[in-house]
Amino acid sequence: MGLKVGILGGGQLGRMLALAGHPLGMSFRFLDPGPDSPAAGVGELVVGGFDDEGAIDRFARGLDVCTFEFENVPAELVERLEKRLPVFPGSKALRVAQDRVSEKTFFSHAQLDVHPWAPVDDLAGLGRAVGKIGVPGVLKTRRGGYDGKGQAVVRERDALGAAWERIGARPAIYEAMVPFTRELSIVAVRGQDGSFAAYPLAENRHEGGILRHSRAPALGVAPAIERAADEHCRTLLEELGYVGVLAVEFFEHEGRLLANEMAPRVHNSGHWTIEGAATSQFENHLRAVAGLPLGSCAARAASQMFNLIGGVPGLGELAGVPGAHVHLYGKEPRPGRKVGHVTLVEAECADPAGSARRIEALVRAAGAG
Ligand code: AMP
Repeated sequence: MGLKVGILGGGQLGRMLALAGHPLGMSFRFLDPGPDSPAAGVGELVVGGFDDEGAIDRFARGLDVCTFEFENVPAELVERLEKRLPVFPGSKALRVAQDRVSEKTFFSHAQLDVHPWAPVDDLAGLGRAVGKIGVPGVLKTRRGGYDGKGQAVVRERDALGAAWERIGARPAIYEAMVPFTRELSIVAVRGQDGSFAAYPLAENRHEGGILRHSRAPALGVAPAIERAADEHCRTLLEELGYVGVLAVEFFEHEGRLLANEMAPRVHNSGHWTIEGAATSQFENHLRAVAGLPLGSCAARAASQMFNLIGGVPGLGELAGVPGAHVHLYGKEPRPGRKVGHVTLVEAECADPAGSARRIEALVRAAGAG
């Protein structure tokens, strides 16, 4: 009998984890409030909220190990499950990553550079933070934000009330707006025996706070920057006693890396690893969680990943682009919603730039429609 893995959350990350785990003989059970969750077709779905005692019990019964694919699962639930079965990466990392203040504090504690920030508890506090840090800046809710939600850019010192209302007048942090050269992220994995492996850095382009495009390996990365990202990530994983995949997003600015945020899970900027790396981030997460040796994180090919946001182009057209690998999540398209991605493996086509342009055009047309 293969390992029975429980996953809190049944979104596309859960779906891709299961797709990577089936060849390893693993089976999957998900807990998610949505009956039509993307993971429904690739394992057993227990439909219920993260506070539904009956559903939690049905979910946990008979599992060998548990993980999560959604970082807003209540840390208390993970703590409770930890008393019942092994849970990786566990509640400590989750608690740190769920709150932007603890995350930034943890980055500084682990000697990572961060851009100026201050906690904000009320409108007067926002005034003090802007007085200290200046404008422009970004106000972000401490908890619960993702894909640019719960954020407001502050450009004028007299526009604070609007920004405070825009994020729902909730505990927040205010950060300096960084005029970065580019955004880079690292996806790394730590095994139960403390082994560590990291994928090459990816270069990411966001629009409206949502990841649109990743290129991996990122072009023109100075060896010192690659080494620094690797070392930073290793430090974070060790400090947290972490098991599994973790991603850290950085701004590259004046030749330095500034840590923006981390995700204690498989990450959108690592989707290229399915076709582009020796072992995908999904397989490596499961290897770690299962106590297996980690697989190589070496890039097999230069890859570009395009998110499908708000709409799906005609599958025939997309699949017909030379070098394109299509992943659909089975989600109902809605504006701003990630419904799939396409990875272009450059070595598989004669004209990578032409394929990239074609994918970009199809993706844009479908997202706008
Ligand atoms: P986050 O939710 O913090 O990852 O923010 C989403 C995206 O918004 C980032 O990937 C950046 O593109 C942009 N962003 C967030 N914070 C800042 C900042 N302090 N300076 C410049 N851009 C930012």
